[in-house]
Amino acid sequence: MSKFVDDFMAELTAKNPGEPEFHQAAMEVAESLEPVFKKNPIYRKMKVLERIAEPERVIMFRIPWVDDKGEIQINKGYRVEMNSAIGPYKGGMRFHPSVYLGLLKFLAFEQVFKNSLTTLPMGGGKGGSNFDPKGKSDGEVMRFCQSLMTELCRHIGQFTDVPAGDIGVGGREIGFMFGQYKRIRNEFVGVLTGKGGNWGGSLIRPEATGYGAVYFAEEMLNTRDDTLDGKTCIVSGSGNVAQYATEKILDLGGKPVTWSDSAGVIHDPDGVDRDKLAFVLDLKNIKRGRISEYAKKYKGARFIPADAKAGCNPLWDIKADAAFPCATQNEINAKDAANLLKNGVYVVSEGANMPTVPEGVNLFVDKNILYGPGKAANAGGVATSGLEMSQNSLRLRWTREEVDSRLHGIMKAIHKQCVDAAAEYDMVGNYVAGANIAGFLKVADSMLDQGIV
Ligand code: NAP
Repeated sequence: MSKFVDDFMAELTAKNPGEPEFHQAAMEVAESLEPVFKKNPIYRKMKVLERIAEPERVIMFRIPWVDDKGEIQINKGYRVEMNSAIGPYKGGMRFHPSVYLGLLKFLAFEQVFKNSLTTLPMGGGKGGSNFDPKGKSDGEVMRFCQSLMTELCRHIGQFTDVPAGDIGVGGREIGFMFGQYKRIRNEFVGVLTGKGGNWGGSLIRPEATGYGAVYFAEEMLNTRDDTLDGKTCIVSGSGNVAQYATEKILDLGGKPVTWSDSAGVIHDPDGVDRDKLAFVLDLKNIKRGRISEYAKKYKGARFIPADAKAGCNPLWDIKADAAFPCATQNEINAKDAANLLKNGVYVVSEGANMPTVPEGVNLFVDKNILYGPGKAANAGGVATSGLEMSQNSLRLRWTREEVDSRLHGIMKAIHKQCVDAAAEYDMVGNYVAGANIAGFLKVADSMLDQGIV
């Protein structure tokens, strides 16, 4: 580690103790930016990265609500407004028991660079709660969302901070939060994205993160005169991103063979087809069931229960060409990364945020596989949220084809920025460095323009 990274990390960890995911995300960016700081010492002198790593504002609040048994429940609520140099704060809300401040700081930090890469004017933020929607009735989820928004509505706004979905937050939760915002503030504005089609939502927004990660993989493959057609693909997760990554893999002629959730892994060697995909959409989005049901329905498929003590995930130990991690952070450990390479995987496009541990990232970069880090590969979701904001401002609704074609164009532009930035700093083919550098420069230059704020 260089002296700069050493000093930067020592200060960051001292100021933000007990937040390992935030440290991990910051360290990766600091390492990538070393050559930029050598070439342009102004960024260091003006402490631009140090400022980006300190949230502009953190809002923490109590979320009291009443469950179906009449008992009072209390959750923690957060919104981390990380950086507004290039636009209003923008980033999802996550509802999961593992949510704490450090996790949201990592996600908000990543979001700053990701949003910059989209070419759209959006700053970075992230929020959420330690609320677990699993097993809760619709009424409980509604009361929770209303209580959350009763406080959050004071801090967000169409020109201030525009939240969206993430783990545990889909169309249902966005609807309940939007309804409460509108009721309290008495204004119908695009304050959230991922809205329903009848009330300001954009076509393709639900599909966008998964589609985008697959478009990004296709762009990477094209640099080697290759395509996804005929490729066996491992996809993790079975939520929003996994579902639509699977759909786009099918569109492009690939063969998805897996699903997962926190209870285990499905391996379907015959391949997931459109009927099986429709089954999963209904199972997960309507019935809110577990992915193990898939193996009961389709006899050729096998369910492997999760085993925390195993040291590696069987999902990443399947013979394949491409992998799309679409579940959660650090789901690929060093052994999993080695297994992927051993089994022939040479394309990894991250639908999830920071799903690979640093040792795994280094392995992928060293072996020169086509590795698209989350902040570039999964930026299609927030990009389409940006398109939803544009449509809300214009009071227009674009067609499915128009939004998809803009999304595709944005993913190509993100890919090109990564390739160009990596090449400029003599790291051809290194998408990690390319994404971090290109994402940083736009934010950093804007911060220099705006003075020390
Ligand atoms: P989602 O619809 O809630 O689905 C999450 C999936 O991941 C579920 O299958 C879930 O299984 C699994 N999962 C979550 N936490 C897990 C854990 N600790 N261990 C194992 N499995 C776990 O969420 P999503 O929107 O698809 O988000 C997935 C990833 O994409 C996240 O990293 C998110 O930050 C990232 N992302 C999402 C968007 C977006 O537009 N939604 C945009 C950019 C990035 P269970 O049901 O068992 O929990």
